[in-house]
Amino acid sequence: MSTDSAIKFKPYTHHTIKAAPQWGKIPQDLQETVSVVSRVLPFRVNPYVMDELINWDNIPDDPIYRLTFPHREMLHAAEYEALRELVLVQQDESKIETMVRDIRMRMNPHPAGQMTHNVPYLDGRPLSGLQHKYRETVLFFPKAGQSCHAYCTFCFRWPQFVGMDELKFDAQDASDLVEYLKRHPDVTDVLITGGDPLVMNTRALAGYIEPLLAPELAHVQNIRIGTKSVAYWPQRFVSDKDADDLLRLFERVIDSGRNLALMGHYNHPAELRTAIAQKAVRRIVGTGATLRMQAPVIRHISEDPKGWAELWTTGVKLGAIPYYMFVERDTGPSHYFELPLARAYEIFQAAYQQVSGLARTVRGPSMSAHPGKVVVDGIVTLGGEKVFALQFLQARNADWVRRPFYAKFDSQATWFDQLVPAFGQEKFFFQEKSSWSERSSLERHLPLLALKRSLEPQATPADIC
Ligand code: SF4
Repeated sequence: MSTDSAIKFKPYTHHTIKAAPQWGKIPQDLQETVSVVSRVLPFRVNPYVMDELINWDNIPDDPIYRLTFPHREMLHAAEYEALRELVLVQQDESKIETMVRDIRMRMNPHPAGQMTHNVPYLDGRPLSGLQHKYRETVLFFPKAGQSCHAYCTFCFRWPQFVGMDELKFDAQDASDLVEYLKRHPDVTDVLITGGDPLVMNTRALAGYIEPLLAPELAHVQNIRIGTKSVAYWPQRFVSDKDADDLLRLFERVIDSGRNLALMGHYNHPAELRTAIAQKAVRRIVGTGATLRMQAPVIRHISEDPKGWAELWTTGVKLGAIPYYMFVERDTGPSHYFELPLARAYEIFQAAYQQVSGLARTVRGPSMSAHPGKVVVDGIVTLGGEKVFALQFLQARNADWVRRPFYAKFDSQATWFDQLVPAFGQEKFFFQEKSSWSERSSLERHLPLLALKRSLEPQATPADIC
């Protein structure tokens, strides 16, 4: 067991935040904002985030405060004023409930049918705790892992955390996953995701992971775990009472001959400046697991290329691998957090130019759109036309990957479905009838419903977390 002084995990929510020692440091207008906006969107912090990551002399502009505490502008001005009146003046719970529901429905809680897309079937039964989008990779959502040590204000999993149960996808145990994998020998990767699977204790996590190590699943070579605990609760790997047990579990996976990859969600370099966060990285990679770094680029939080360069450089020094810079998605308070693709590209390029080759493993800015992961490779002028140069890093149809294609430049576009083909073309190459009819082996396994929806832009939450 580690000798680090252990602080106990204790989440603060909108019910309990007033008991936090820092509450008195928050000016009254910002306290009011927390009380109002957290009625609509999920809010959760913990003592580590509040004591070690937020600079209270710089609120509300401190990036970790922006990342975890709600802001007035996350709601439209009229919505905020109306809800404020109900919450703080009238205190009418019935009217509050109605208004909160209306605002949530306005926020696109069902981005592009993500509940139905990619859901695989077993003997005609949909498996709601699994997603299978790309041939090699299955995503698995363990029921006990569907929360996080703190919540990101931009989170596009927000409906999962506010009791909108119809949007939840989770699996009680690993039995369906194991059976599905037995029947799909072309699956090499399982991504265990959430929320954050590492909110589970080690015993519960082992109950999901150990069945994957069975000899009949030898084709599953890579087990990935999507997690934000490396940033929001690094104690999970260092001083929690079962932290050492967790590392032993990682070693059992490695000893079984598999690769274990932690997909670490780091939004800002401040998350990797503390001694315990750095120790967590060293302990993880010391087991033989790999730790990859990924996050979306977010307005108000991570617009500084120097910050990304520091994050990737520090990560490489500690043994982590920069992996993805994503683009913020169209759900929840995205109007407050999204950036134009052109700006996201500028930030990525400026950050990339500052780091050594070892950190240039990072890809971005990447949109997890419906057809696949589309990266903005550049902004160029070809034949007199200014265009975005794009390509798929991953795609439903493997033939599309790494085929350059071009979209008309649009300085305001923030997402893939806002782009149109360049050079007067009517369709992108993958929208041609012949391309769509070339179904991948995965698509042939998917239900008709998924195929019908295949022209919708969409992504899975686990692409980010
Ligand atoms: S973005 Fe990821 S880590 Fe952040 S609250 Fe959402 S699911 Fe959790």
